[in-house]
Amino acid sequence: MYGFGYFNPSYFIFILPALLLAFYAQFKVKSAYAKWGQIRNERNLTGMDAARIILGPEGLGDVQVEGVAGQLTDNYDPRTKILHLSQGVAQQPSVAALAVTAHEIGHALQDHTNFAPLRLRGAIVPAVQVSAWVAPIMFFIGLIFNFAGLAWLGIILFSAGAVFALITLPVELDASRRGLHLLQTYNLTDGRELAGAKSVLSAAALTYVAALAQTLATLLYYVSLLGGFGRRR
Ligand SMILES: [Zn+2]
Repeated sequence: MYGFGYFNPSYFIFILPALLLAFYAQFKVKSAYAKWGQIRNERNLTGMDAARIILGPEGLGDVQVEGVAGQLTDNYDPRTKILHLSQGVAQQPSVAALAVTAHEIGHALQDHTNFAPLRLRGAIVPAVQVSAWVAPIMFFIGLIFNFAGLAWLGIILFSAGAVFALITLPVELDASRRGLHLLQTYNLTDGRELAGAKSVLSAAALTYVAALAQTLATLLYYVSLLGGFGRRR
């Protein structure tokens, strides 16, 4: 008898390596942020200061900066052109604050320059949101009632999430690359601080790799269930 999705023990065997990677990535982010969030940057600049220095000269004068609750919740919204900075980033003059601000401005630059992966990722968001809950339902109905076509359709739909996670990687890596470049261009960090900023952003990038691994593992699990089903008949 087949279990149902997330409650099947064999699912955990599929997802375990990706889960371990996700835990490791979270640990790396927290520890890098804890370390470099404590270290004051040489020029004593907060994330808000850095945003004021960078945005205008980069042609991003229309980008508004607003606060957002929580920790590591910083983001740039291409629809509203608002750069959201968390309190720790906006108000503390740490190396981590500069790294996070520069990364988010990297996303604003992607938006400004019509960076294709960012556009593509934005375009598939609605499909991903629908498929995240419709695809598993289609898949398991197909599996239980022996409609292989429906189950495969569920798998194809579910792969939209994998495509999203895949496109996220170049978007995030490029934003970090742009961010580190900005820190150098505007002389916001010295050599050691730049290395610290890089370690914060690399740890963050790893969480996106882990998310992709989780999606691919789930996809593989669905395919294996369907394969096993075929053999049993
Ligand atoms: Zn990002």
